[in-house]
Amino acid sequence: MSQQGYVATPPYSQAKPGMGGYSTGFGSTTSQPHYAHYGGAGQPYSAAQTGLLKPPHGHPPPAPNQFGQTNLQNGVYNPGNQMPSYAAPSPCSGQASPLQSHGSNSQANYRNTAPPLFTQQVTSQLDAMQIGDHGSSQAHPQNTPSLSGPPLRPSFQGSQPQQHLPPLSSPTSHGLPVAPAAPAAAVPPGMPPPPRVGMHVGLAGPNQGNIGYQQVQGQPPMTGYSPQQGGMYGGQQRGLQPNYPGAYPGAPATGAQLAGPQQKKLDPDSIPSPTQVIEEDKIRRAGQLFVTNTKGQVPPLVTTNCVVQDQGNASPRFIRCTTYSFPSTADMAKQSQIPLAAVIKPFATLPPNEAPLCVVSHGESGPIRCNRCKAYMCPLMQFIEGGRRYQCGFCNCVNEVPPFYFQHLDHMGRRLDHYDRPELSLGSYEFMATLDYCKNSKPPNPPAFIFMIDVSYCNIKIGCVKLICEELKTLLDNLPREDQAEASAIRVGFVTYNKVLHFYNLKSSLAQPQMLVVSDVGEMFVPLLDGFLVNVQESRPVINNLLDQIPEMFADTSESETVFAPVIQAGLEAVKAAECSGKLFIFHSSLPTAEAPGKLKNRDDRKLVNTEKEKILFQPQSHFYETLAKECVANSCCVDVFLFPNQYVDVATMGIVPMSTGGSLYKYNNFQIQTDAEHFLNNLRKDVQKPIGFDAIMRVRTNTGFRATDFLGSMYMNNTTDVEVAAIDCDKAITVEFKHDDKLNEENGALIQCALLYTNVAGHRRLRIHNLALNCSSQHADLYKSCETDALINFFAKSAYRAILNQPLKTVREILVNQTAHILACYRKNCASPSSAGQLILPEAMKLLPVYMNCLLKSYVLLGSPDLPTDERAFQRLLVTFMDVVGTQSFFYPRLLPIHKMDVNSEELPAAVRCSEERLADGGIFLLENGINMFLWLGLNSQPELIQGIFNVPSFAHINTDLTSLPELDNPYSKKIRSIIANVRNQSPYSMKLIILKQKDKSEGIFRQFLVEDKGLHGGASYVDFLCHVHKEIRQLLT
Ligand SMILES: [Zn+2]
Repeated sequence: MSQQGYVATPPYSQAKPGMGGYSTGFGSTTSQPHYAHYGGAGQPYSAAQTGLLKPPHGHPPPAPNQFGQTNLQNGVYNPGNQMPSYAAPSPCSGQASPLQSHGSNSQANYRNTAPPLFTQQVTSQLDAMQIGDHGSSQAHPQNTPSLSGPPLRPSFQGSQPQQHLPPLSSPTSHGLPVAPAAPAAAVPPGMPPPPRVGMHVGLAGPNQGNIGYQQVQGQPPMTGYSPQQGGMYGGQQRGLQPNYPGAYPGAPATGAQLAGPQQKKLDPDSIPSPTQVIEEDKIRRAGQLFVTNTKGQVPPLVTTNCVVQDQGNASPRFIRCTTYSFPSTADMAKQSQIPLAAVIKPFATLPPNEAPLCVVSHGESGPIRCNRCKAYMCPLMQFIEGGRRYQCGFCNCVNEVPPFYFQHLDHMGRRLDHYDRPELSLGSYEFMATLDYCKNSKPPNPPAFIFMIDVSYCNIKIGCVKLICEELKTLLDNLPREDQAEASAIRVGFVTYNKVLHFYNLKSSLAQPQMLVVSDVGEMFVPLLDGFLVNVQESRPVINNLLDQIPEMFADTSESETVFAPVIQAGLEAVKAAECSGKLFIFHSSLPTAEAPGKLKNRDDRKLVNTEKEKILFQPQSHFYETLAKECVANSCCVDVFLFPNQYVDVATMGIVPMSTGGSLYKYNNFQIQTDAEHFLNNLRKDVQKPIGFDAIMRVRTNTGFRATDFLGSMYMNNTTDVEVAAIDCDKAITVEFKHDDKLNEENGALIQCALLYTNVAGHRRLRIHNLALNCSSQHADLYKSCETDALINFFAKSAYRAILNQPLKTVREILVNQTAHILACYRKNCASPSSAGQLILPEAMKLLPVYMNCLLKSYVLLGSPDLPTDERAFQRLLVTFMDVVGTQSFFYPRLLPIHKMDVNSEELPAAVRCSEERLADGGIFLLENGINMFLWLGLNSQPELIQGIFNVPSFAHINTDLTSLPELDNPYSKKIRSIIANVRNQSPYSMKLIILKQKDKSEGIFRQFLVEDKGLHGGASYVDFLCHVHKEIRQLLT
């Protein structure tokens, strides 16, 4: 290889104009009003993260015995006939609860002033919990005044009149919405009604003075998932819960509870079970057709596998909402505090049995749009006057139909070509974009992929460099391409670096690659004009030659310092010079301490945890990287970073650029080639090959009455309406919050059109349109029964994870708890039948809100424990920012599969069990996964037959837990478990490394922290305790 030393002058790296170059902008004309109502414009700069995508998995067989009719009363709700409540000793008492106090704030404000409702006990009035869709609005007048009593707790909502706490994030941020809800209430036509309408769950009865809950006869002891019976629930007598740090804020002190040696606990089987809700939704809706022809339909849960047929509304694969029935007024929205949000994944992958998106051309004049609001032609436009005009569904403007587009109407007022045109009959489709939609009115060039490999001592020593080079030789054959295209149009380039950067000329005419070194990293430029970005087919021999040489060239390096920002700058300059969009794949090992722009210092300080200054740990060290990210977005340069750290690398700072450019971040702590290579390579393969769009701008339009006010995700915002991303792939979701700016018309509903302008992998400019019509109602009951808890949690997580940049974690946690209580209290007040104030009543569609919220509160990011590595917390924060609803659902509530119950003759996965230690059995083998981590837990008394079948060893003691993959054996057990693991991995955007653990081994601790219904190892309440706490908060709100 020839080496040219320095090249002193940048031959061609002038900056291009930024995003302003569109002549008829993508929505440039509409002047979007500001969101004055809710105090402030959108977040000017939000960073985002890689999304976790886990497609729904195969529908497990109904397991009536396991998940069946639990004792939760599933009967039809009958207002006159209250379900029996289940007497159970209450774990919480009026002044005391098992939860540890975390600050007096909420306590002080919400002293329980209510008189005891039951005579026996002043304490614990937790009496019974109703979970139900008490939905009939007739029964419960909706216009009840808002909650009286104590002032509302503050929320993330900046508009709350009673603001006790500072707003969650920057002044522009709006509320942190609250609860996700399961779509249980809506039943598509032709489907059987949901199994139950109302449900009471015995949470805990008035304390009768005696301890025992009555154990229901025939109820098996607590192994596995015991079916519940109606009536009295057998309360579990559990021992004293150990104290734990870091539970959620404001939890009352545990005085009374801790007084005695033993206390009664709620029976975990009597409180809403995530696995049961998921399983019931599968039983009802798995495998069925979900036809999107009706406004406001609640889709199946993300965990339910169904087939979606687009008949006018976007598939839930593209858009999921926190509720499918918006409140008609801002007042009503404020009363409920349910966040109104949509989680949009514009490039979601569709399964092979669903129709791919159609591409529509409206000719040289470009897509037909409303003159006033610029909404694109869609099924929400109403044709009138014999087809000569159409009324915009969003702004009501009446527009002329262009002559070339004219068509007669039928007797229903529908165009005769309705079904021939995707833009009239489908929820999702694409338009070909004209030059008006291209930067500087020039057709874009195909994008470039630039691979940038850290060749410092660390990366060479761990074998990473050789591994990457070997893999790239085959991976370059699989670059994304347009459907039907023979080869990918993407050009590639290569850079290696440590303290200096090495560029490579790979022109096909060369016999050998040429290396050009830039050692002045202060002012980065690309030293070669021609030959840096090349076509893979043409330059194949030179590329292979280079990839063979790189590991050898640097094999003996002693250089341990690295730069980082100049590497991104180099890639950016190359992309700019080539006048294309691009994606950088950076493989980096260490904190960039070499003298250069963007140099970082080790500033990890876990003493800041649980202090006002904790937020600093999540903020970037300097604004340098934010500025760099902004420039990357302006030039559509997306950055993916693969980190191989063996110590702190300041993920909070190094992740900023990936997060803001629509890129992804991967981290392999203490990478070891034997155990981590496959894991890393699988991620790299997925990452390189995934469907992706470049140079994207997204605009979300709505009809009169509400608008998009806040955006959360992997993106950049230059103004309050346009979401800019350098690139967006099939796994990235952007969560959009809406606020009212007027009253919504109940007849029209709430209409959303998401338009994404982007360049595809072949360099073609496209507009991807997703339309969704939601209901609108003045009845709280409609709002509550149309909620999707999983989407709510996605919103809460992203809001809270952004809020911690500006607010103490304690405040953020308090707001989450308060908002949860408030949402549920509003339901109780407005929708539930009159009943004892001591009852906890949960809306059917939101009955998992408390358990999921607790999981969010005790996630690493929000936990605030000095035991947790700062980088890991920053990393998880970034990951969640990218995530779609599937991703957050499994991340916050992992899936625990009893492998010992797998049916080797079935295609299905075994039905999951709840994430609690109680569900583990000595004789069991369990697979746990959350989309990022995967564990195989082996019980001490695992069946020898299974051990032999899976591991090919004679006994438990012989199992080698260092394995990261299972041996490929020719027996049904081995085949089945490997197929389960492959299935689970396929559903996540991340390859999950398999970690094998034995019960009672030291390493078991890392597994236990995923048992999220239990008290956390590093803090965080158990589900039962949290539920009691929330109930108490609700009661205080209601008094
Ligand atoms: Zn319009």
